[in-house]
Amino acid sequence: GLGFVQTFSSVTEQRRHARELEEAKDAAVRASRAKDEFLATMSHEMRTPLNAVIGYSERFLRDQALSLQARRMAEHILSAGSALLCLVNDVLDIGRIEAGIIDVRHESFLVTALVEEAISLVQPLSTDKGLALDVVLGEGLGGFFRGDRDRLRQVLLNLLNNAIKFTAAGGVRLRVARRDTPRGDRIRFSVIDTGIGIAKSDQGKLFQGFFQVDPTISRRFGGVGLGLVISRRLVERMGGAIGVESAPGEGSTFWFEVTLTPVPPGEAAGKDPPA
Ligand code: ADP
Repeated sequence: GLGFVQTFSSVTEQRRHARELEEAKDAAVRASRAKDEFLATMSHEMRTPLNAVIGYSERFLRDQALSLQARRMAEHILSAGSALLCLVNDVLDIGRIEAGIIDVRHESFLVTALVEEAISLVQPLSTDKGLALDVVLGEGLGGFFRGDRDRLRQVLLNLLNNAIKFTAAGGVRLRVARRDTPRGDRIRFSVIDTGIGIAKSDQGKLFQGFFQVDPTISRRFGGVGLGLVISRRLVERMGGAIGVESAPGEGSTFWFEVTLTPVPPGEAAGKDPPA
């Protein structure tokens, strides 16, 4: 008889445990949703005042008669405001990606033009630091491809900005290569730097969010550790992959790879195909 009673109580016990676990999970999901909503609302509400801070300090700086001191202060206001706006936009992006709101677009574009644009945007940063910046384009990249140009540019800029940020001497190279696989044309963008590098034990954490190997460095250069997690989510939304190879003191290679469909020559460029 005793055996039965014991079994019975342990079954109810198990059920109670399972129910408690379920309730805890529900509470966690609700809390996480509340947190996401809070962050999204806050970020959204912060954009308007921030745009005023940025807009007015820009206008103020256009005044030729400013004293040097006033100009310095206005420049500080402008750069602090811009940094905060970047953070707010990152948080909004994460929220949108997590809510699955971000659609992948399929427009025709030239990979060469995308690369040129991204490079011209980061060129001033690398020149300021005295770093070399070059591009190595592989075979078969001359034509139009169909894909989400804006998102690709966003990821590319994240990686290029990081490479410049974490490199003190040497340079940054962007390598683009096309390779045909059974699943289509894979295009791989690799950003290779001669910077500080990342220990093996930290490499996996980079793409999880809010992780920085050395927060004091980033405090100097800005950033909160969201760029790579946003990049990863975007690349995954496009059905691609992202990764890093790195050795401390030697430099890092951050790469991502997506499938892009080549557009046959002669087909109208810039239009989405009919659904
Ligand atoms: P952020 O740059 O805003 O800190 P990221 O998500 O882009 O955020 O990067 C997270 C962390 O990964 C950085 O703080 C840095 O520690 C590390 N990291 C990223 N790119 C590089 C790189 N090219 N070289 C060395 N460390 C890097």
